[in-house]
Amino acid sequence: MGTARAIDRVIIAGAGPIGAILAYALRRRNIPVVLIEALAAPEIDCRAASCHPPTVAMIEELGLLEDGLDQGLVSPVFNYLDRVTGELIGRFDIEAMRERPAHPYVLQWEQYKIVGSVINRLASDSDADIRMSTRVVAVEQDADKVDVTVTTPDGGSEIISGRYLVGCDGGRSTIRKLVDIEFEGFTWPERFLKIDTRFDFFGLRPELSNRNYFSDPEEWLNLFKARGASGEGMWRAVSPTLPEQTDEELLSPEAVEARLQKFCPKPGRYEIATIALYKVHQRVAATFNHGRVLLAGDSAHVNNPVGGMGMNGGIHDAINLADKLQAIWFEGAEAQPLFDQYTRQRRKAQVDYVQAQSIQNKQTLGEKDPVERARKLDGIRRQSADPELHDAFIRRACLIDSLRDANATL
Ligand SMILES: Cc1cc2nc3c(=O)[nH]c(=O)nc-3n(C[C@H](O)[C@H](O)[C@H](O)COP(=O)(O)OP(=O)(O)OC[C@H]3O[C@@H](n4cnc5c(N)ncnc54)[C@H](O)[C@@H]3O)c2cc1C
Repeated sequence: MGTARAIDRVIIAGAGPIGAILAYALRRRNIPVVLIEALAAPEIDCRAASCHPPTVAMIEELGLLEDGLDQGLVSPVFNYLDRVTGELIGRFDIEAMRERPAHPYVLQWEQYKIVGSVINRLASDSDADIRMSTRVVAVEQDADKVDVTVTTPDGGSEIISGRYLVGCDGGRSTIRKLVDIEFEGFTWPERFLKIDTRFDFFGLRPELSNRNYFSDPEEWLNLFKARGASGEGMWRAVSPTLPEQTDEELLSPEAVEARLQKFCPKPGRYEIATIALYKVHQRVAATFNHGRVLLAGDSAHVNNPVGGMGMNGGIHDAINLADKLQAIWFEGAEAQPLFDQYTRQRRKAQVDYVQAQSIQNKQTLGEKDPVERARKLDGIRRQSADPELHDAFIRRACLIDSLRDANATL
């Protein structure tokens, strides 16, 4: 067991995209960090891939945009389609907005690549102490510091101290549980199935863009294209399952093949890269700050992935918090009022925008009542056709309004 030492640094638990971005944002502001990650190496999964325009601006501000453009795909357009009739219901083009954001596109940059890019840059920074295969198991705080007990790669344990701790340790956050913060909300009865395939849908469905939402009362579907590990192109299809379906029923190669063939019949089998089943939650932590402990990213909020908002909201948390820590560190600002404001601002973004919008997105795609479904699809058609409504729709879908209103909250 190591000894506790008060050290002037921020401890970050979890090196997913939010912990990595926060660590990098703090280093850019000259604040030392220790980044603690339970896994031996960043997880190569293909969950988040969409970075909305305000997030792209933050990525640029951090000096990471070159990596993002090298490794990602630029996608100005997203489509809504009726899977039952095949009709293109709505086309939303960020480049066509009358008040265009500085980066008028969604950057399809997979979350594992974001983490890789940041970790590479931090590797040579002596004020960024990166601890892999290290898990936070206990937290204690007093008036001056926070002490974090971790299990170390050799099976021992150690106490790491810092001025503040930020839990970026995902939806099942140990930090959130250790400081006893309620995770308010609900879990959907159905799980979502994600299938990654290298098959290029553009060949058979030229009306598609890189980002497509298919409405269907039976089986809605999100279909997105990302660049893939070696630039070969990777399509990600997410669709709902029935609550009573077992893992075996859903994950067998035949079931996966049948699901894709039903969506887009083609000769020969699909080449499947990965398959994953997700429980889907809509939850927001009761507070994002508790003394010297803060929460950011999925540890503070989780939502269904329709609309690609979870990681984006988490990156907005990280930048908001990094700015406040800078004011505390270098400008003598009082911590508690700023941390309370962090909670007010970022909870607002979550509750009023990300939660509301992601629930609405899911309900629009999966609406079963025929009259209500026709009304919802008509709404999309109208918003796509009317320039003012078109722009307003994008501002909500791309978290432009969410960020503006959160930042304006005192
Ligand atoms: C199918 C799917 C598609 C999605 N698509 C999008 C999208 O397009 N755009 C978008 O914005 N969002 C999307 N999301 C959501 C997005 O994946 C998450 O919001 C994002 O991963 C959150 O990042 P995070 O860093 O907060 O948490 P995580 O990515 O979960 O990372 C947490 C890290 O903490 C580590 N950790 C956990 N416990 C400990 C501990 N005790 N000690 C040390 N380390 C610990 C974990 O090993 C992990 O590396 C999607 C989600 C799903 C399921």
